Amino acid sequence: MKDTYRHQGKRQQLVRTVKKKGITDEKVIAAIGKIPRHLFMDSSFEDHAYQDKAFPIAADQTISQPYTVAFQTELLEIKKGDKVLEVGTGSGYQTAVLCELGAKVYSIERQRELYKKTKTFLSKLGYRPKHLSFGDGYKGIPEYAPYEKIIVTAGAPEVPKDLLSQLKVGGRMVIPVGTEVQTMTLFIRKSAKEFDRKEFGAFRFVPLLEDKN
Ligand code: SAH
Repeated sequence: MKDTYRHQGKRQQLVRTVKKKGITDEKVIAAIGKIPRHLFMDSSFEDHAYQDKAFPIAADQTISQPYTVAFQTELLEIKKGDKVLEVGTGSGYQTAVLCELGAKVYSIERQRELYKKTKTFLSKLGYRPKHLSFGDGYKGIPEYAPYEKIIVTAGAPEVPKDLLSQLKVGGRMVIPVGTEVQTMTLFIRKSAKEFDRKEFGAFRFVPLLEDKN
């Protein structure tokens, strides 16, 4: 688990890249500059870890592109102490970004292998999400609801109703919606029944899958 000067140098290059692409939130940028992304990936991809690209992880899944992670996180407007639900723990990289911003993170993953691996890995690295769940994130994690923020890191063919219902009034949810290509979508809960919906460009994610267990 080494983080060398060479890794750090490449990471600063990545920071410049995400800034150039339009990320402005200083705290998000600092998190990208701090987290050793190469450790979240298979060692065979180590040389590519600081490219602004998604890469394969276990169970046919991917670690999201750093720009996408930064973009989704920026839209959430995380404040220290926010209770955040993440659907799709995957490698744990996005989880680590949320922890760096001082969020209380509740994350759920439906691939058992990834759930187990990432749980051990995050604690080794010193990240302490409040709770990591194994299961179907379509249903959210009702035991800990409501959440100030919700982030979905897989492409959702439709917006899961349970997730909207677990969002606090005043809260924000960021979710890529679509099948082949997804539209990044932000929901802001205005009241018990009203949501504002805003759309932000096209992205590509692995699919959000329902009910495997
Ligand atoms: N945040 C992750 C992204 C991983 S890719 C990272 O930065 O590495 C998306 C993840 O969502 C995959 O690990 C996939 O298994 C998971 N996923 C897909 N459908 C899901 C569901 N219904 N519930 C929970 N996780 C799901």
